[in-house]
Amino acid sequence: MTAKLLRFAACAAVSTMTVGTVCAGQEDDTKHPNIVFILSDDHAIQSIGCYGNKDIQTPALDRLAGEGMRFEHALTPNSFCTPARAAVLTGKYSHKNGVTHLNQRFDGTQQTFPKLLQSAGYDTALFGKWHLLSQPTSFDHYCVMKMQGMPENPIVFEPQHEWIEWSPQDQKSAFQGGRKLKGYNNDVITDEALAWLKNRKSDKPFCLLLHPKPPHAPYRPAPPSYGEFLKEVQIPEPETLLDDYKGRAPEAIADKMSNNRLLLCPTYENLREQLKKENPKISKDELTRAIYQEYIKDYYRLVKSVDDNVGRVLDYLKESDLDKNTIVVYTSDQGFALGEHGFYNKMWMYEPSLHQPLIIRYPGLVAPGSVNSSMVNHIDLAPTLLDLAGLPVPDDIQGHSLKPILAGKSDKVRDAHYYHFYEHGKGLPEMVGVRTATHKLIHYPGLPASHQWELFDLEKDPEEMTNLYGDPAHDKEREDLKECLRGLIREFEDPVELPNLKATTGKEESKASS
Ligand code: CA
Repeated sequence: MTAKLLRFAACAAVSTMTVGTVCAGQEDDTKHPNIVFILSDDHAIQSIGCYGNKDIQTPALDRLAGEGMRFEHALTPNSFCTPARAAVLTGKYSHKNGVTHLNQRFDGTQQTFPKLLQSAGYDTALFGKWHLLSQPTSFDHYCVMKMQGMPENPIVFEPQHEWIEWSPQDQKSAFQGGRKLKGYNNDVITDEALAWLKNRKSDKPFCLLLHPKPPHAPYRPAPPSYGEFLKEVQIPEPETLLDDYKGRAPEAIADKMSNNRLLLCPTYENLREQLKKENPKISKDELTRAIYQEYIKDYYRLVKSVDDNVGRVLDYLKESDLDKNTIVVYTSDQGFALGEHGFYNKMWMYEPSLHQPLIIRYPGLVAPGSVNSSMVNHIDLAPTLLDLAGLPVPDDIQGHSLKPILAGKSDKVRDAHYYHFYEHGKGLPEMVGVRTATHKLIHYPGLPASHQWELFDLEKDPEEMTNLYGDPAHDKEREDLKECLRGLIREFEDPVELPNLKATTGKEESKASS
């Protein structure tokens, strides 16, 4: 079935549902389940046990996956914090929700899934990192940090506090007013969220959004009790840690990627300089390997904090008997590189930053321990939650409800994933691309002609090390993917202008890039 037909089928199913407000005491309370939606920050799937990690244990996330469905290919439409969060809330691509760039102000008057749930009678609450600048709207309660939030003793803002406008250029304003919590950020934010749940007097269904700050940087101080974790352990390196980028886009900007390459990462400048001082002849590869060991341990310590606090939430839901009629979603705003291609950070359309974790538990609907291998998109979460709550999905939402997949009635909702990352003036180029189950085509319109295109065979080359774009043996895949990309740009009504994607210029581009 094509993606369009699948979308139609999902919409048709929704249209037969009863539309109206929800209230307590309805005969079938499973029609309006509670929702706990956990959105962490920069969480790489490679760091989670149930996604194959062998270096650390993540018992809470593994338990959640064992009781629900794990998505192997949950993909972001725009791998950067602020735009990704706006896409999750709205179910729309960046050009539709107005947040294309980092630290761009979210227009809170627009439609979001919490707003639609609140209008339908849900109690809505938000805790943790917000990162959309504007004052949160459509939450009965919120307790959020502005900007990134501090690792310890964070200042939070609630509805009773004056919301002082701020911007990345005026960061002092982000810390005026509010209430200071005492303790490690993720622990005390979870405390606040659990207190809200425990103290609720309402008998309405609820939608709780919990947005942990970790494993986003800063990596130090480590969470309490994890300062020494893995200290004496040598962590295995990813196969592509020492990637030289030959024949691929990063080759064109390799010396400028301080926001992506571990070798150039500002966080480890002191370590880098110390190693150079101790051994003036140290190679770039040796530096990368040494920095990787520090980085991955710092990162894993934060992952442990995430897992511990997810465990606290799951324990409370069970103790309170809320778990039976509560959907639990665990995801992150986007994926993250853990040394693959020598990278930390996100933004690229390569697999590590394109994939975020997605686990959904809903007893009675989702088969325990199930795994889905199709491509789902963060813009699917809003329609999915509305659908599961028994509400109609507005036509302007661009994602698909995953309910048919969760119910075991369908394997996929799309055949191709559209990606658009916007240039930020921070060294990385704009990226527009398409991923299918087997291939990926990425266009970098701002790079020199020699590095504007990448084509990968994901089955034979899952690490994306061999660019097949200029290889005549792959002419058909290249042209098919270009046609697919043109179709997605039309379908999602992205106004992006890509002169080198015009159908008539395929052969010329091939020559230029070969
Ligand atoms: Ca993020």
